[in-house]
Amino acid sequence: MTATRLLLLGPPGVGKGTQAQRLIDELSIPQISTGEMLRAAVAAGTPIGEDTKGYMKRGELVPDEVVIGVARERLGQSDVAGGFILDGFPRTVAQAEALDRILGDLGVKLERCVALTADEDELVRRLLLRAEQQGRADDNEETIRTRMRVYHEQTAPLVAYYRERGVLAEVDGVGEIDEIAARVRGATEG
Ligand code: ADP
Repeated sequence: MTATRLLLLGPPGVGKGTQAQRLIDELSIPQISTGEMLRAAVAAGTPIGEDTKGYMKRGELVPDEVVIGVARERLGQSDVAGGFILDGFPRTVAQAEALDRILGDLGVKLERCVALTADEDELVRRLLLRAEQQGRADDNEETIRTRMRVYHEQTAPLVAYYRERGVLAEVDGVGEIDEIAARVRGATEG
């Protein structure tokens, strides 16, 4: 059985977005990236965008209640009934608990949390490269350091959270993209 209610977890730069894209193509289920949704809100100048752009620019987390609202609304849409790939949400224990409630209300369960791993030097190298290539506003050295610290303090505890719930699969995120994609795909089976 292939799990289709998935969460990709891991530090900034580990390749969650890249691997999510592969899974979308293979499993035909939508990706839910709160980072992308928030960037779109900032670009469109919506009230949520106005409220959140400062946090994003600094590499800090947007307040839980805002991002939980965004995720709840998205998960309630009809195209996610057959499955979804969460990428970048949850990022705190409070968000993980909220996700459990949201999914509980929808009568479904998270089936697998794929945690991608890589060492910090590799991550910083990748993010600096992305900064040069894509010019994302939060890809500069100072913000990258903040995002790493925030990840360790607030998001890393989710690895244990999902391990305790028996849905965790840890996947080495270093190597060729295809190779990692095969590992991630393997982690969605069984
Ligand atoms: P990354 O490349 O670091 O994984 P994302 O594109 O997922 O970045 O998110 C970019 C920014 O959007 C984060 O640094 C944060 O400010 C905000 N953000 C995205 N998702 C969340 C979330 N679940 N909780 C709080 N803030 C979030």
